[in-house]
Amino acid sequence: MADIAFVGLGRMGLPMALNLVKAGHSVKGFDLSMPALEAFAAGGGIVMPSAAKAAQGAGVVITMLPAGRHVHEAWLEEGGLAGAIAPGALLIDCSTIDVGTARELAAALGPRMLDAPVSGGVMGAEAGTLTFMVGGEAEAFAAADPILAAMGRKRVHCGGAGAGQAAKACNNMLLAISMIGTCEAFVLAEKLGLSHQALYDVASTSSGQCWSLTTYCPVPGPVPASPANRDYVPGFATSLMLKDLGLAQQAAEDFGAETPLGRLALDLYGEFAAEHAGQDFSAIITMLRDRHGR
Ligand code: NAD
Repeated sequence: MADIAFVGLGRMGLPMALNLVKAGHSVKGFDLSMPALEAFAAGGGIVMPSAAKAAQGAGVVITMLPAGRHVHEAWLEEGGLAGAIAPGALLIDCSTIDVGTARELAAALGPRMLDAPVSGGVMGAEAGTLTFMVGGEAEAFAAADPILAAMGRKRVHCGGAGAGQAAKACNNMLLAISMIGTCEAFVLAEKLGLSHQALYDVASTSSGQCWSLTTYCPVPGPVPASPANRDYVPGFATSLMLKDLGLAQQAAEDFGAETPLGRLALDLYGEFAAEHAGQDFSAIITMLRDRHGR
């Protein structure tokens, strides 16, 4: 069993860290929030007074922080993890951040540094069924796999440093575009007098089929488990989709890709998030319905 340092015990990090505890690892944790530390201690974690103290002597150091600037600060700035990590320790950032910062960390910290963002949300973190998208050296990925397996069902090695973040940005941009497209099809169907179920029955078995339609249908009825059936309680919050679309557009600009629909999706989710950031991202159908004639 490993000695693990876990920094960032928020909505995702706390259940992930506690799954490591449940798997029998010794987990030393740190967060800026006192309630997060209390919940971690109640679940069997060892609370430490700083990230650097947690990392001292640990064989594995994991971070799960809000955004790139927090990750940069936690690892690379004065008093941060970089000055405390033991030689040979495995270093894993699971936060969703920009590709550039992920590559900067790997360049600064070496071949044991992995970027490993997740999909599956808080429910997946609690159930230990997350999917990890991992960038970094194959040897480090192999060493990390048994640790990640305690938190996630699927681990995909996507390539070198930053490839995990790249996969996450591309996937979520595609998801946003397909969700908006699915919503537009339902709004048009409503205007044409076509029932939701009729459109679903045709499109779900035709060339319009996609995950946003068949698993996450944005209107109530056809897919009983989708957030549309419970007033769009997330699920996957609009604020998080907006963040991920921002990362995708930043990557497109930084690396010279043409993504006009990604840009439009970012604009539409920005408009929707202004008043509905806490709703599920599929609720954007309500904005599209209301837009006509404005
Ligand atoms: P969160 O805001 O609930 O948790 C972040 C935690 O980091 C907080 O407890 C905060 O106090 C702590 N923190 C911030 N700076 C710190 C520092 N310097 N040192 C120690 N602790 C610090 O966020 P979350 O929902 O857990 O998301 C974490 C990451 O996972 C984000 O990058 C997010 O995009 C990604 N993610 C979230 C979801 C989701 O459904 N919530 C799904 C997939 C990926």
